[in-house]
Amino acid sequence: MAPASPIGMEIEEAILRGEVQLYRLDELLKSSNQATELRRKFLEKKLGKDLSALKSDLPFDKIVGRNCENTIGAVSIPVGVAGPLKVEGRYAKGEFYVPLATTEGALVASVNRGCSTIKDASGALAAVIADAMTRAPIFETPSLSHSIALAEWVKSELELLKRAFSETTRHGELVEVRPFVAGRHVFVRLEARTGDAMGMNMVTRGSERVAAKIVEANPWARHLAVSGNLCTDKKAAAINWILGRGKTVTAEVTIPRKIVEEKLKTTPEAMQKVAMTKLYLGSARAGVLGGFNAHAANIVAALFLATGQDPAQVVESSSCITMVEAVEEGVYVSVTLPSLEVGTVGGGTWLPAQKAALDLMGVAGPGDPPGTNALKLAEIVASTVLAGEVSLIAALAAHHLVRAHMRLGRGESKT
Ligand code: NAP
Repeated sequence: MAPASPIGMEIEEAILRGEVQLYRLDELLKSSNQATELRRKFLEKKLGKDLSALKSDLPFDKIVGRNCENTIGAVSIPVGVAGPLKVEGRYAKGEFYVPLATTEGALVASVNRGCSTIKDASGALAAVIADAMTRAPIFETPSLSHSIALAEWVKSELELLKRAFSETTRHGELVEVRPFVAGRHVFVRLEARTGDAMGMNMVTRGSERVAAKIVEANPWARHLAVSGNLCTDKKAAAINWILGRGKTVTAEVTIPRKIVEEKLKTTPEAMQKVAMTKLYLGSARAGVLGGFNAHAANIVAALFLATGQDPAQVVESSSCITMVEAVEEGVYVSVTLPSLEVGTVGGGTWLPAQKAALDLMGVAGPGDPPGTNALKLAEIVASTVLAGEVSLIAALAAHHLVRAHMRLGRGESKT
């Protein structure tokens, strides 16, 4: 990385005198790589701290304006690999090595054990069963009757609104419009296919255009905001749990009794009992929303960090119901994630390490045909969640959880 130029020195002095804001450095230096260095050095000097561990050779000239502002460096996270994970999906077919970015000891080892169990059980079946990203602009109307008229109008003019949406994107396609009336306000939940992108920018841009069209035809309606929380982005919400958001995906495996007993050191009946009491009774008693699972968020978060997904969307993307049944052959386990928001283009997916992690699974960049890489990734995520659920539920049934965490989460294996 180039050292701060003489111009940088002058600017540094100007910053210290309080004459230049840190965020203006990229523009003044015409280099975000230099600005990143200078901001960090300025903070070191001002606060008397060593921040050299934040130094990074990431391409900040490309990052600023796309992924982050006011950059001072980067934080690296260890990445472990789980697999091979055997999947028979509609899009993901074969064996995959899955990258997991985490600082939680025992997680990768546990998922890896789940992958190995699934492979021995001849693989997971997986399928994306619905696919639409959503945005819900808010409209204010003069009266309840106007609101009802607006709701009816948007439903009857789907083709017109589709055309307006498609003017803003090549890959996005509006597929459904659902109005929700609340007195003098109407929330219009727009549902769109977004190809290989997670789609939040794409759908927000299309929604602005659709909202303008709605107001043009109904001039008494006022567009208050492009996002009205019925979307629902980055919050736990029943609407995503029921209607889905992003990819709705499910995966299943039946594990023969012999494998449960020899590999997982438990029984199908003990696993079912843990599921009945923990996943359903315990979660119901706690009033959990979308959390009828053992630890889906662990796997979703680690995969999101490794592959450049939007980490705040772990909130709704990790909603999951896990089903565990003792059956004649052994144990049947399924996971269903109604609102998994993933993409292989856009956001942080282009960053070098994140792109390599996607490439490891054969899903980097646009799919051929468009959309198929994101669908494949969704099936891999669901199958990895399945592996994590199998392993943790078995560990709980066998009373192995604490032992594994002490050994792999506290470094006790090395002492
Ligand atoms: P994006 O990078 O904004 O859009 C994807 C881009 O890739 C579009 O320009 C699209 O072109 C192009 N593209 C090329 N090949 C494609 C393919 N095969 N499939 C789909 N698109 C293709 O990404 P995004 O997923 O819409 O947005 C993700 C970002 O939104 C993340 O950084 C996230 O943090 C952020 N975010 C935004 C909001 C918001 O309210 N705006 C909310 C939450 C998160 P065309 O559009 O012409 O097809």
